[in-house]
Amino acid sequence: MQRIVIVGGGAGGLALATQLGKSLGKKGLADITLVDAARTHVWKPLLHQLAAGSFDTHAEEIEYLAQARWNHFKFRLGSLVGVDRHNKTLQLAASYDEAGREITPAQQLGYDTLVIAVGSQTNDFGTQGAAEHTIKLDSPQAAKHFNDRLINACIRAQTVPRAAGSGRLTVAIVGGGATGVELAAELHAAARVLANYGFDHIHPEKDLQIVLVEAAPRLLAQLPERLSESAMRELRKLAIEVHTNEKVVEVTADGLKMASGKVISSSITVWAAGVKAADFLRTIGGDDPLETSKLNQLMVNGNLQTTRDPSIYAFGDCAACQQPDGTWVPPRAQAAYQQAMYLTRALPRLAAGQAVAPFVFKDQGSLVSLSEYSSVGSLMGSLTKGSFFVEGQFAKLMYWALHKQHQLALGGFKKTALITLSEMIDRTYRPRIKLH
Ligand SMILES: Cc1cc2nc3c(=O)[nH]c(=O)nc-3n(C[C@H](O)[C@H](O)[C@H](O)COP(=O)(O)OP(=O)(O)OC[C@H]3O[C@@H](n4cnc5c(N)ncnc54)[C@H](O)[C@@H]3O)c2cc1C
Repeated sequence: MQRIVIVGGGAGGLALATQLGKSLGKKGLADITLVDAARTHVWKPLLHQLAAGSFDTHAEEIEYLAQARWNHFKFRLGSLVGVDRHNKTLQLAASYDEAGREITPAQQLGYDTLVIAVGSQTNDFGTQGAAEHTIKLDSPQAAKHFNDRLINACIRAQTVPRAAGSGRLTVAIVGGGATGVELAAELHAAARVLANYGFDHIHPEKDLQIVLVEAAPRLLAQLPERLSESAMRELRKLAIEVHTNEKVVEVTADGLKMASGKVISSSITVWAAGVKAADFLRTIGGDDPLETSKLNQLMVNGNLQTTRDPSIYAFGDCAACQQPDGTWVPPRAQAAYQQAMYLTRALPRLAAGQAVAPFVFKDQGSLVSLSEYSSVGSLMGSLTKGSFFVEGQFAKLMYWALHKQHQLALGGFKKTALITLSEMIDRTYRPRIKLH
């Protein structure tokens, strides 16, 4: 039986494993294994909410083992570190618990088809001090770590007498792209809820200063200008300090230094500017490595096969896939999802030696959530033959629908409906913010 191994159970990999399990695995037509370095899946676009404490991971986390059992695939815990292309085996590093005890030893796993979907990580461009003094919002662990620091800082602020300028908590966010903007608005909303729960020293504007720093001339530089203006207007209403045209050159324990000479002090600094794929992908394949881009992404052809090895596929953030019009597929959840759906159909046919039309990314637009306050976005309309601008409640609904699409791919209609119902019930009796 054909062995298909998928490494990385994120926005793309988990959807692919689930769909292949339901089609090939269930009928015994292929042996599907998902490998991930973590035991549970959290949909990455929710990380800013996890950081602010406004969503509960227990409700949103998916246990890989259970997902595998329900959808006819196997799960292996492990971190990919190398691939022996000649013997078609992949190497997984040993994994350890928090106390340093070994959970799984280093392992080897054979494959006939390997799919790499290990995502991306934050790129600090080697900025001085960024590695030591910033939190990077690229994993659930990092988001939880940020949340712990935030709650601890708020508890500490309770014990410090309020005096002008002192005891003030400043969170600086480097990067005014979608992640930075969403986190800024989410933090403001979280501070409002915290104040309601008795953290009366945390007034979202007086005591928590949120600062957003962007090197480009405007926020959301990758998106249409109208979205930047709209987001800027909303952030101003929330008294969030925005600095555009400011490149961070150094991060210290107490703040940021800019190329312009400006200094911004900060208690907690989050780095949310730029992404790259993991360094280990550059050497994967040993003496005969796979081709990679400047950002360490694996280069793939239109069928998402790596350029030097047709039995190894890569997709999502860790792959560089050029479109027929010369543009590159963007590192977004909707692209990873579309590629997962493409591979579900294409893999069995390519394995049977049939020709398959190349993957084409259909941009459905971009949505940026400004927490409970608003959302802004541009959607691609088939009737308008271009993008149209959305804002407010409608954009919030579209943003919510994106997440539901992911849940549908993983759990089907009935399960998604039940999860939605339980989320609604949950909201009536749980605090709106995580307080521990
Ligand atoms: C805060 C934030 C907000 C975002 N908001 C949006 C949004 O609103 N809309 C949108 O379209 N996109 C958004 N994105 C981008 C989106 O999350 C990514 O493009 C998407 O998750 C990429 O999917 P992926 O499957 O390639 O990788 P990921 O979803 O990152 O999954 C990678 C998986 O690989 C595993 N892994 C990593 N390394 C290894 C290894 N060596 N061995 C084994 N397993 C490994 C990880 O544990 C993880 O499960 C956001 C990203 C962030 C960080």
